[in-house]
Amino acid sequence: MLPFDLETELEQRRAAGLYRTRRVLEGAQTVEAVVDGKPCITFCSNDYLGLANHPQVAAAMKAGIDRYGVGGGASHLVNGHSAAHHELEEALAEFVGRPRAVLFSTGYMANLGAVGALMRKGDVIFEDRLNHASLLDAGLLAKAEFARYPHADVENLSRRLESSEDRRQLIVTDGVFSMDGDLAPLPRLCRLAKDRQAWVMVDDAHGIGVLGARGAGTLEHFNLGTEEVPVLVGTLGKALGTAGAFVAGSEALAETLIQHARTYIYTTAMPPAVAVATLQSLRLVIEEPWRRDKLRGLIERFRRSASEMDLELMPSDTPIQPLMVGAADRAVRLSEALWARGLLITAIRPPTVPKETARLRITFSAAHTEQHVDRLLAALDELREEWRDG
Ligand SMILES: *Cc1c(COP(=O)(O)O)cnc(C)c1O
Repeated sequence: MLPFDLETELEQRRAAGLYRTRRVLEGAQTVEAVVDGKPCITFCSNDYLGLANHPQVAAAMKAGIDRYGVGGGASHLVNGHSAAHHELEEALAEFVGRPRAVLFSTGYMANLGAVGALMRKGDVIFEDRLNHASLLDAGLLAKAEFARYPHADVENLSRRLESSEDRRQLIVTDGVFSMDGDLAPLPRLCRLAKDRQAWVMVDDAHGIGVLGARGAGTLEHFNLGTEEVPVLVGTLGKALGTAGAFVAGSEALAETLIQHARTYIYTTAMPPAVAVATLQSLRLVIEEPWRRDKLRGLIERFRRSASEMDLELMPSDTPIQPLMVGAADRAVRLSEALWARGLLITAIRPPTVPKETARLRITFSAAHTEQHVDRLLAALDELREEWRDG
């Protein structure tokens, strides 16, 4: 018999510098926050537009509670599909320029549900190796064959598609890679898919609200529609500042999800008040493009100074600006040194990222000021020695 020994396993994890702990946030998700009792500036949330604590969005959620109460109460297919959910689905579909959108309670479930509903035994799923864990899990759980291609390597993918030509093929990728901040090579992926009659599914958790003139995301940025990318996943807990997710595409795709997506069918609908709040934040995303402009300005300011300081930036124009460190324990030490200076940036370590690519995942928000960015740069400058020498 093999006994359970959680304590020893946890100790080994701690020794490897991989132990994860949680800090306690004492108020709303804002860039100036109190964390573990200490006031600090945060550079690690996904609240890219500063909407998670926007007064109009919060007021909408309260009004939603007055009308709909607190809980969803049932799944969408029983009687949990409220007028608020329905209206949000229609607004999201229009926003991303697609016939339909279907709401899910989280992005994780949207990904599991969409891949599971589309792919059968005998089909093949191809995923970028750096895809979000929820997409990789979707591939692992599916009854179809699952293959990973090297990050953004269209040639490699092309060869693999060729060798499984007679089967249904789904190419799945993040739009913006969540730990690197770069964009998927979507125009090339879509051309490849078209030649092979494969489908492309894009998870745009970090592009929605941020990229494109209207904030409709990575596909708007590249000017790609339903024809090129039949399956679009967007999440609501990042730039939109609320919670939940949607899958958008054709009429037939939406109906297929409603029939077959297990994470849609067998779970309680998100609280309707969250849908009401999201309708309001969607309005702000569309009507107030200044947040995207401001965010772009902050990102440029950071990149300009960081490259003058010779910090190792990654090729990203998005609010995700990781600083590559390498060793996990060193990333943790740097994160702690920043914390001592009142700056919260979490160290991202394996297995979230590949071995020896531990990093500080810096993210920017339209709620940051230039002064916040300059404080971060000054702290990074002070820690210069630690970057270099370990
Ligand atoms: C955050 C994230 C998800 C999960 O979304 P949740 O709504 O938080 O479950 C899915 N995909 C990507 C790329 C993400 O970054």
